[in-house]
Amino acid sequence: MTDPISLFLLLVSPAVGSFLGVLIDRLPRGENVVSRRSFCRSCGAQLQPFDLVPILSFVWAKGRCRHCSSSLSPWLLYLEIAAIAAAGFAIITSDSTPTMLFTAAFLWLLLGLAVSDLLWMRLPNVLTGLLFGLALAWSMAVGGAGIEVALLGAGLGAGGFLALRISYRALRGAEGLGLGDVKLMAGLGAVAGPFDLPALVLGGATIGILFGLVRHWRSENLGRQAIPFGTALCLSAALMWLSRVTGLLN
Ligand SMILES: [Zn+2]
Repeated sequence: MTDPISLFLLLVSPAVGSFLGVLIDRLPRGENVVSRRSFCRSCGAQLQPFDLVPILSFVWAKGRCRHCSSSLSPWLLYLEIAAIAAAGFAIITSDSTPTMLFTAAFLWLLLGLAVSDLLWMRLPNVLTGLLFGLALAWSMAVGGAGIEVALLGAGLGAGGFLALRISYRALRGAEGLGLGDVKLMAGLGAVAGPFDLPALVLGGATIGILFGLVRHWRSENLGRQAIPFGTALCLSAALMWLSRVTGLLN
């Protein structure tokens, strides 16, 4: 905790959470993330630097826009808090600086993907692409599993899901698994590697079923609405990674 890199991670984490909020709000709508400044979805008012201070601005304005008083998505706040928690986990569980940096970046990407799939049923290409790039870079780092293992895991993960997607469509004539899930599995497979991949998918399926049961118990009438499987896979991957860095899987 005393080293400057840990401190830096903790300091930037709320801003990372805010930025994930912007990405998740705009990417599924096909909007530009970079050029336009943050604005209120209800009245269009441009947000001032004061409104962009993570957590504090949300709490100060009681979760409402200062211009039109319409309520802001609580997910903006949850993302900021979760991003700080992810940095905290990375600092506590990692035994080296590279592992700590990778853990933080990996958990942040999983967080963005999980919430995006939960809210929109979308896994933006920018995030799945970054995840895949990060996974490959990590495999080539000192102590990493190596690029061959990562590519094998990615191929098996994405290939397996693609085969599942094609066969489901052939059998049922409907979309069962999104292409976003296939791309997500390239990155997750690269991190898991071929040996941990089955456990990762099984964990994701279990979480997905639990998620469906909870919705059923709360008797939400969903009809044929899909379960955000990407969210479940991201949760499973986070658990897998944390048990790996804390030594529970060894
Ligand atoms: Zn407003």
